[in-house]
Parts: sequence; structure tokens; C-alpha cells
Amino acid sequence: MRGSYPGPQGKRKLRAQGNSRDGPAGGRISRMDGSPRAWRPSPLIRASLVLHAGAAGVTLLRPHWWPWTLSAVLADHLLLALSGLWPRSHLLGPNWTHLPPLAAGAGVATVPAAVAVTIDDGPEPQVTERVLEVLDAHGARATFFCIGERVERHPSIARAIVAAQHEIANHSYRHLKCFSLLGPRGVANEISRAQAVIAEATGEVARFFRAPAGLRNPFLEPALTRANLQLVSWTRRGFDTVSGSAGRVFGSLTRDLQGGDILLLHDGHAARTEAGAPVILEVLPRLLRALKAAQLAPITLRAALERTAAAPSAHSLASGATP
Ligand SMILES: [Zn+2]
Repeated sequence: MRGSYPGPQGKRKLRAQGNSRDGPAGGRISRMDGSPRAWRPSPLIRASLVLHAGAAGVTLLRPHWWPWTLSAVLADHLLLALSGLWPRSHLLGPNWTHLPPLAAGAGVATVPAAVAVTIDDGPEPQVTERVLEVLDAHGARATFFCIGERVERHPSIARAIVAAQHEIANHSYRHLKCFSLLGPRGVANEISRAQAVIAEATGEVARFFRAPAGLRNPFLEPALTRANLQLVSWTRRGFDTVSGSAGRVFGSLTRDLQGGDILLLHDGHAARTEAGAPVILEVLPRLLRALKAAQLAPITLRAALERTAAAPSAHSLASGATP
């Protein structure tokens, strides 16, 4: 088991904590008030900045070396681009690929391990409501990474997500295929517009962001810090937008399942089974039964953050500590 993850002592407490913004010790989680955290460039970004400054200096002093300086800069850009195409990479900044570990002394021996079920690309009429029913029937909590313009179209579904004590999170405003090609303004716009419509529809300030298809660029992390959002990718995904085979999706999600895993499913853009049903509706009940059998409590990302420790842990997360 990868560390110990906080679960309440049974699901009763898990329900009670739900989307509460109060931490386990009654303290508010640091920066849950929306104040921005400081952007700290990752080592790769720092190295890139130094390289660009060095290349500019060399070009001024030794202009005839330009083929070498240009090659170095192009190689750096290639490395940055590749890092952004790798959704689970930590090279561009902090990125949750697992839940953060339980705080020391927070009842490690007595609480069950936890996982996060994250559901992307909704709200989707006729699907999200049924997903909520399945979650409710199993007493499970999930995090919904919603697309801003879909929240605008279906605010009542977004409200139903929050009313059922699940978490709503930011999955950009338009879910553009070219999201990772946007400049700083375009990236910030996608984030802030989605943040605004989620708040307007639900009254909730999203705390987590997932990039469309997980693809990013170096402009994302500064924009996330300004919006006080934590980037989340996943431990394992079911590829349920392309595979309509519930068995295959379930197998992908549960291979080497462990406490602390972040699992990815889709209510929007869901592939269909042979019978024509969105595959999530066949996979989710099976997954929740498997989690129960493995004694893994499905909790929201916010609940996982709240259980990590006292408020200063948010600082360590923001500084790039990999859970
Ligand atoms: Zn998506």
C-alpha cells in the first residue's frame, strides 16, 4: 500500500465531512479563501529561463555562434512541449497523480485507505444524474471536473452535484483540443471563465483543475497559482471515451489498485457499450463494489487535501511536493 490515506472511521464521518471547507482539526485549509499562492517555477522552467538568458547574452557577445544558441533554445522548447504532452509529468509544476498522504498522527492505524473517483467532461444530461444515483446508492463521493460552457448550459445539474456533497472542479471553459497551444492570456481566460460560471451556478469556488486531455504548457501553472487552483491528473484512467467495453475500462482502472489512487472516468464524451449505454454507467457500480471489497473509501479531492495535515501542507503541495 502506498502510504496511508485518511478515511474517516467509516463512511458516516466521510459523509459528514463531504465538501466541508473545515479541515479535520477544525482549521480552514490554507488558501481556501481564494487568495493566490506564489508561483514557484519548477526546476525545468528555471533551467529554461536561465538558458534563454544565456542564449541572449551569447548572441550579443558571439553572434556567429548563432547555430549553437538557436539549437539549444529549440531543444529546450522541444523538451517543454514534450513535458506538456505527458499528462502525469511533474516537470512543468505541481501535479497530483496520487492523493497526498495522511498527516502524521492523524489516526493512520485506524482509518481506511482512500481513493478519488474523478469524473470528467460533464455536466451531461441523462448521464450525470444517473451517475449521481449510483454514487448515492454506494455512499460514495466523487469529484466532477466540469466544462465551463456545459455548466452554463446545465446549471441545475452542476447544483445537483454539489447538493449531493460531491466536489465540482474546473476542466476549462471550452475544453479546447488546442488548449496546450494557447498563450498566457488564452490559458488564463479558459480557467477564469470556467471558475466564474461554476461559482455562479453552484456558489462553490473550485479548488482543482484538470487540463483538457491532460495536455499543458508552461503558461498553465502561473495561471493556476493566480486562481488558487491545484492541477490534478490521475493515477489511472479507463480510456472510457474510446472504449465501450465495460470490462476493459474496469480492468484498466483497477489494475494494481491502491490507496491514494486517483481514477478517471467520463460522464461527458462517454463511449457507448454495445447496448448503447454510456460505459460509465456499467463500470461505476462495479468499480464502487470493488473499492468496497478492497476497503478503499471513495472521497473527494478536497476531502483528501483537508486530511493531509494542518494548513501549511498546502504550501508544500504548492511548492511541488509530489504526493
Ligand atoms: Zn476532458
